[in-house]
Amino acid sequence: MYENILRHPGPTPIPKKVQLAMNRDIISHRSNEFVELYRETIELVKPVFGTKQDILLLPSGGTAALEAAAINTVSAGENVVVITVGAFGDYFVSICEKYGFHVHKLEKEWGQACTAKELREFLQPLQDIKAVFITYNETSTGIINPIAELAEVVREETDALCIVDGVSCIGGAPAEMDAWGIDILVTGSQKAMMLPPGLSLVSVSERAWKVIEENKTPSFYLNLLSYRSWAEKGMTPNTPTVTLINGLHEVCKLIEEEGGIEHTIARHELIKNMVRHAMNALNIELLTTDEHASPTITAIMAPKGIALGDFLSHLKQQYHLDFAGGLGHLQGKIFRFGHMGYCFPSDILQAISLMEAALQDFEYDFELGAGVRAAQEVFLSAQRKQL
Ligand code: PLP
Repeated sequence: MYENILRHPGPTPIPKKVQLAMNRDIISHRSNEFVELYRETIELVKPVFGTKQDILLLPSGGTAALEAAAINTVSAGENVVVITVGAFGDYFVSICEKYGFHVHKLEKEWGQACTAKELREFLQPLQDIKAVFITYNETSTGIINPIAELAEVVREETDALCIVDGVSCIGGAPAEMDAWGIDILVTGSQKAMMLPPGLSLVSVSERAWKVIEENKTPSFYLNLLSYRSWAEKGMTPNTPTVTLINGLHEVCKLIEEEGGIEHTIARHELIKNMVRHAMNALNIELLTTDEHASPTITAIMAPKGIALGDFLSHLKQQYHLDFAGGLGHLQGKIFRFGHMGYCFPSDILQAISLMEAALQDFEYDFELGAGVRAAQEVFLSAQRKQL
């Protein structure tokens, strides 16, 4: 009877209007209607990336788009730097190693961000780096790296391309690809973009295209030059996920309806603050400090004295609230509260109130309502500023 309340860091709930848009009759990807849909969608999505450059649509998950970014720019034996602050940074390392790149790994403890100073010191002794790979938002820990500052350091210290995994935050976090000098920015559909899995977006700078044109690594399905040449005709080289592109068009309209991407980003900032204040009020620790806290996912430590697995199962079975567990060595220690995409203050109030109900069932020592009240206070204060 009850629907599951999905509060994962992807996949995320799909707005009704987007579901309806995806229900439209399928069209041929070689038709004029598709060309119109494709061209309009690409123009509409550019502000979300903060770019005027090409954005390519790949019929794939985020991983394939990351792989495309890597293999189209770097060849085996070439030097790259990968910043890793968690599971998805490590994932980027694995992709690079698989293709035989020579990886210099800048590794931080999980739960911390990489600072501009650290990156500068790391890069200075290195030579001939082809690309620096950075995870913008580390989904395993709820850290957002200071990407504008990191991209600036890459520019100042190297001639390398700056390649960014924005899979779990684009659409919910600021992105100024052109102004920040990012060369390739990648995201996937199923997170802050409010769509089902299966579509990825890859934006490529002029500088990156020059490198791609010279690159020697063979690729076929993930060959970005092939996507570019078909994009010029308003199409894709293979059968695209037309349904998801219909959905993406609608998502862009919803973002416009909200007042533009700045407003969507501001909502994510607000809901992040609601979650963090609520956890503080409940005396439940957060994995990360406020300074680098992600606007799209919050990593929360197990409430003291409670077995986390039992707590998460109870929340799901009894209250239909579904949080994600920890990854890697954080499994059993943290849970991840996804608040990206189609998520509003009312969803946060609902989730926190259900969480409090479960805490009460586990006889956790707290004042019932304290978390909800703290979140309401953040919400009301933001409302008052708008009035
Ligand atoms: N990068 C980040 C930061 C992610 O969060 C994820 C998925 O959670 C991926 C890459 C991989 O994306 P996908 O699962 O769509 O292949």
